[in-house]
Amino acid sequence: MKPLNIAIAGCGVAGLACAALLRERGAKVVVYDKLSAPQPLGSGLILQPVGLHVLDAIGAGARMRELGAPIKRLFGKSGRRVVLDVKYGALGANAPAGLGVHRGALFELLYEAAQRAGAEIEPGREVMSAADGRLTFADGAASTRFDLLIDALGTRSPLSELPKQNLPFGALWASLDWSGPFDGAALEQRYEAARKMVGVMPIGRLANRDQQQAAFFWSLKHTEHDAWRAQPLEAWKEEVLKLWPDTAPLLAQIERHDDLVFAAYAHRTLREPLSRHCVHVGDSWHCTSPQLGQGANMALLDAFALAEALERQSNLEAALAEYARLRLWHIRLYQLASWAFTPAYQSERTAFAMLRDFVMSPLSRLPPAPQILAALVAGQLGAPLSAMKRAR
Ligand SMILES: Cc1cc2nc3c(=O)[nH]c(=O)nc-3n(C[C@H](O)[C@H](O)[C@H](O)COP(=O)(O)OP(=O)(O)OC[C@H]3O[C@@H](n4cnc5c(N)ncnc54)[C@H](O)[C@@H]3O)c2cc1C
Repeated sequence: MKPLNIAIAGCGVAGLACAALLRERGAKVVVYDKLSAPQPLGSGLILQPVGLHVLDAIGAGARMRELGAPIKRLFGKSGRRVVLDVKYGALGANAPAGLGVHRGALFELLYEAAQRAGAEIEPGREVMSAADGRLTFADGAASTRFDLLIDALGTRSPLSELPKQNLPFGALWASLDWSGPFDGAALEQRYEAARKMVGVMPIGRLANRDQQQAAFFWSLKHTEHDAWRAQPLEAWKEEVLKLWPDTAPLLAQIERHDDLVFAAYAHRTLREPLSRHCVHVGDSWHCTSPQLGQGANMALLDAFALAEALERQSNLEAALAEYARLRLWHIRLYQLASWAFTPAYQSERTAFAMLRDFVMSPLSRLPPAPQILAALVAGQLGAPLSAMKRAR
């Protein structure tokens, strides 16, 4: 195929990964983002081994591993009862772990990789619609004509026909200096039924800082966010401390409501990633709650699959069909798993928590459940990389 002229709408994980991978394969790439200085929102996330594989292909994996914090275990307690315990080591002594990373560190590495590859990045461009190879922006202007439009605008993409409503629960997030008696190689959570959840996860450091950081999160319904802001911060801290007293040194770093960012979650999946005018990658195709820690990994895998398909196929139509084929089943599997697991950790209904504590948790200890759960969390179920073997 002759080198394509490609517009990417969105400068997040999916958009930047597409930019780096496609530019490296010879495409001409322009990335548009609404922010005047593109930047990541939120705190930290877990990169799973499959996502790290894609970062390696982009040339950013080694640096990411230097900055991030290996995560070997996901661990959760409700009262004294251990109700979540997934160990990556169940897949073998040398099985790769997850990597807790600061969103800022991931963003910078992807941004540098896209720029190094020669992608053009145009900030301050709010995309409203797409048609006939052109994007239209909020100021009424239109782009030049491109061979391919990629929608990487995330959960609320105006180019995606997904419904836009949120899940009942989201969470407050903050990146704080690592402090407290937490396991430095685990994501840890404490629950009261599934109504309350507090979590701590190591996320390593930013490139320009030595301080190791933690992502701290508190589950909250989006309808209760205003009420949370209206109550004194100390009252909320007391509630958190009651659930997990060890969080005191982290809570001491939170001085204002604005130190925490509220993230709303949504769960939806387009039947396929191809619309009439564009192809979707990342959250604009499939988004979900972060309970399984897969969203950024899925976005990276989408970018990798799209780049591989465009390189292998001799015409655009065949390449886009191959992209859909490479990703469809893995995405369906993980969207289903995430949909099934989310209420066990975020729900008003006690029945879900009881199912988690008295059925799922005991069953999860019986072989081969530990291996299956570790493979699920590592992003490996459905072998998403085996079809895209031509990694560099
Ligand atoms: C709190 C939280 C925790 C998470 N934890 C994890 C985790 O542990 N592991 C994991 O893998 N995933 C996690 N995720 C999911 C992960 O963050 C997302 O799946 C991932 O960021 C999706 O990438 P994306 O590029 O599709 O979208 P985004 O990263 O949302 O990027 C979208 C980009 O498009 C831009 N944009 C949006 N609208 C417009 C417009 N109209 N015009 C122009 N630009 C626009 C935005 O500015 C942004 O730059 C978490 C998500 C949340 C909210």
